[in-house]
Amino acid sequence: MSERHIEMFWRCSSCQHRNLGRHMVCQGCKNAKDGSEQYEMPEDTASAVTVTDAALLRMATAGPHWRCAYCDSDQRALDGGCKNCGASPPVSPGTPDKAPAPPEKKKSRRGCISLVLIVAFFGCCCPMWMNSGKSGSASVQPPPEQVKTGPEWTRSLQVKELAWEHTVSVERRHQVEREGFAEDKPSDALQVKAQGQRHHHDDQVLNGYETVYFTERKQSGYTTETYRDKEACGEDCSTTPKKCKEDCTSNKNGFATCKTTCTGGEKRCTTRYCSVTKTRKEPRYVDERRSRKEPRYRSVPRDAPWFSWKEWTWSHERDVKASGKTLETRWPADAELRPPKALPKGTQERNSRSASYTVVFQGEGHPPVTYSPETLEEFQRFAIGSMHTVQQEKGEVSVVPAKPPPPAATK
Ligand SMILES: [Zn+2]
Ligand SMILES: [Zn+2]
Repeated sequence: MSERHIEMFWRCSSCQHRNLGRHMVCQGCKNAKDGSEQYEMPEDTASAVTVTDAALLRMATAGPHWRCAYCDSDQRALDGGCKNCGASPPVSPGTPDKAPAPPEKKKSRRGCISLVLIVAFFGCCCPMWMNSGKSGSASVQPPPEQVKTGPEWTRSLQVKELAWEHTVSVERRHQVEREGFAEDKPSDALQVKAQGQRHHHDDQVLNGYETVYFTERKQSGYTTETYRDKEACGEDCSTTPKKCKEDCTSNKNGFATCKTTCTGGEKRCTTRYCSVTKTRKEPRYVDERRSRKEPRYRSVPRDAPWFSWKEWTWSHERDVKASGKTLETRWPADAELRPPKALPKGTQERNSRSASYTVVFQGEGHPPVTYSPETLEEFQRFAIGSMHTVQQEKGEVSVVPAKPPPPAATK
């Protein structure tokens, strides 16, 4: 950045003479320059002559003019008093201090306090109101679904219907005829008879070898391949055009300071790529015809001895059921379990028991609820009309066991 000074001019308001910036008195009519007469910049600042004379440079760099308070004429900063009337220059006036802004009203603080008061009021008084309102009434039930993983519902329900069924399954042991290979025959088989030979399985027997031909790919030397590639081979550079500009500002004393600023002139480079021919070795493959011997098998049927025999076995014969719709249950009597016809000699029977119990609860505004106790002992607890806490969880109905009544309540 370079700097120079040029001379401005001013036009006399009395005689219109164009005066150079160095003059404080009109060269046409000898009137002193007053405050209304502005310095003007030359039309073409670029061709304006640079100030080099020492006396003129002192004027140019002395700072702005001051205005005489008595005769209203402009005076150079480097002159002691008014050249026009002899008055002395003014002491540089200080700027009066700005009055401090009135303090801002703190509305937000007041809002906070009132909010605190409201919270304190409700925080301490509301529970008291609630307590006084509820006092004397029955114990407050906890709201339903307090625990998200709890039952779908819990109700206190009355037993409406009962049903039970006792089943005795009767099996009979009797002789059956069986046949099979030796490995199928139980050790306690009776009246075993050989029944000749039967096809048991097939064996795979080696039947000679077969020559199988195939091709195999093998590497055999290399081939040289040429290809094109790109490689860096220097740089392409250019310089951005340089531009300079001169700006002139008035010194407010008949002269102006002109500053030149320049842009551009930077060197920019990019890598240049060239196309080159390169070679590389590629492995070469050939197909080779080869052979191998593979075994061939044939199926040979094998026979084994076949037997017939008799064996004892248990099989289901009949079910005998007893059922009812009260808490009084029973098992089928011995008379009911007796076989309808006399058993053949040597034949035995055996029994096994199974039971099912059903309790139907009144729905209380919902469909009736059915529950199946596991044991007779549990079933006995559900007298018709008795109340039970029933709940459903994951689609399954269960009964919450009742707490044993306190000793004082028993009569
Ligand atoms: Zn004049
Ligand atoms: Zn004066």
